[in-house]
Amino acid sequence: MELEDLRLAVYRSFAATGQAPTTQMLAAHLGTDDAEIKSGLEMLARNRHLVLSDNDDIVMAHPFSAVPLGFAVMGNATLWWGGCAWDSFALPHLVHEAESMLVATRCPACDTPHAWNVGRDQPPAGEEIAHFLVPAAHMWDDVVHTCGNQRIFCSTTCVDSWLTRTAQSRGYVMDLVTLWRFAQHWYDGRLEHGYVRREPVGAAEYFRSVGLAGSFWGL
Ligand SMILES: [Zn+2]
Ligand SMILES: [Zn+2]
Repeated sequence: MELEDLRLAVYRSFAATGQAPTTQMLAAHLGTDDAEIKSGLEMLARNRHLVLSDNDDIVMAHPFSAVPLGFAVMGNATLWWGGCAWDSFALPHLVHEAESMLVATRCPACDTPHAWNVGRDQPPAGEEIAHFLVPAAHMWDDVVHTCGNQRIFCSTTCVDSWLTRTAQSRGYVMDLVTLWRFAQHWYDGRLEHGYVRREPVGAAEYFRSVGLAGSFWGL
């Protein structure tokens, strides 16, 4: 079994169904046994193509998530957990299942519901603010925690009240236009064969090209 075939099977299963495939499904699909799938998944996790739970279940394959992290993304016939704000805004760019997808969340500070039609042609309208808590250099220390803290708030007032309440210091704040542009091409190629991770070499260059700045992004 080629590792890239396994990676692609995981990503395409998430894209088509919104759910993580099981080891048994992958073994049947790739004509191999559970043991080879398990060791392949571990290798992919080491290379940051996906995230496994303590039980070796697939938790994330960015931008896809098997667990709720504050966002839901609805296409024409498929429903995904959206991962973080970045991942949720990236889904319509990566999966062309619909012209636009409904991205829904609640402000972590005040529970106000927010939803946007996110498509590929232009950023959604909205005055809301995305806040990323964990700096780029530490995003993979605990990536599920990192994604769980990349959220969309009503305003900077809500960001600050949430930070005060949770005793944390401010990370990086961006408007929805920047978030959309940032999400637009980051995951390009992940549903195709021969994908090569952008990080770490191309990451800084990409961050700069979409208008991010400062030491938070390693720039
Ligand atoms: Zn994320
Ligand atoms: Zn709020």
